[in-house]
Amino acid sequence: MDARKDIRKISDSDLKAWMQTRGEKAFRLAQIQDWLWKKWAASFSEMANLPASLREALDSDFQIRKLSVSEFQKSADGTIKVAFRLFDGNLVEGVLIPSGERMTACISSQVGCSLTCKFCATGYMDRKRNLDAAEIFDQAREIAAIAEKEYNLPLTNIVMMGMGEPLLNYANVLEGINRITDPMGMGWSPKRITLSTAGIAKMIVKLADDGVKFNLALSLHAADDEKRNRIMPINESNTLDAIKEALRYFYQKTKNQVTFEYIAFAGFNESLEDATKLSKFTRSTGIPVKINIIEYNPIAEADFMNADPQRLDAFKAKLESDKLIVNIRRSRGKDIDAACGQLANKSNS
Ligand code: SAH
Repeated sequence: MDARKDIRKISDSDLKAWMQTRGEKAFRLAQIQDWLWKKWAASFSEMANLPASLREALDSDFQIRKLSVSEFQKSADGTIKVAFRLFDGNLVEGVLIPSGERMTACISSQVGCSLTCKFCATGYMDRKRNLDAAEIFDQAREIAAIAEKEYNLPLTNIVMMGMGEPLLNYANVLEGINRITDPMGMGWSPKRITLSTAGIAKMIVKLADDGVKFNLALSLHAADDEKRNRIMPINESNTLDAIKEALRYFYQKTKNQVTFEYIAFAGFNESLEDATKLSKFTRSTGIPVKINIIEYNPIAEADFMNADPQRLDAFKAKLESDKLIVNIRRSRGKDIDAACGQLANKSNS
């Protein structure tokens, strides 16, 4: 194994110190950062504006660990799923979802997941490790390149809704998003980025305290604790009340968009009574929330069923009569297991 340190894991101040000990000029640091993040160089030899001696010194002390595309699958509906191979052989998945001019990248935050949500394929894998900031950045960058190549369109949105719970890998996820929004990185507006969480109340408060500018989605799926405990064990320690308080705080501090995601499972959470509960819960937050009703994508490990479209329409109508903003999201990429909750490195195992 290569013993050289991964240069994108070195903090800016440590890299600066390394430069100083070598007597390099201060402006070289910005040039290196520019190559690493903005130009997305794969090797030090590409860094044409650096003196050869510096390129060689960098190469003997550091490596650039980029992830690579290990598998590429295109769905009949145009959705593309990519398996990324990490330096240690682990795999994570990312998805490109084209929808007219809208090109959305769905990226992962962890290898596997620790949360064991009963309806999610990733929840049946163990959490192997957190992704680092560069691994998060590289997925976005790679999928942006795929959008250009396959559809000749720029990426318009990034959702952190792939494998893993982003708020349990807080520091790396925030640093990864910072690199995506940094003018010295991808230069993205944070308004086009959404982080989705199963609901870690303490960390939602931390997002607010850290003044993040991206949007937040909560995977709600049930608006009563008893039901939510049954499908999302994390709810036992992060109850709906705790999450509600955290979201209220988040919105008051940041004014960023908050969305609820709600998978409609047949015979479980899609009755009119469930709609009433969802409506009450949403209004009790006291903040503007959009609701996305998501189609359930069947997974082999569980026996939930997708809700009947007519029942869904009635469910939606009830929420709308309570003046809530509701969208029904049709699932994409199901034929290649690229849809929400189906990411489990299946084709590779
Ligand atoms: N851990 C984060 C991000 C990953 S899940 C979270 O929980 O939000 C991204 C979205 O896909 C979540 O809303 C999740 O609940 C949903 N999802 C998981 N399994 C699904 C399935 N089988 N069908 C439809 N959506 C699913």
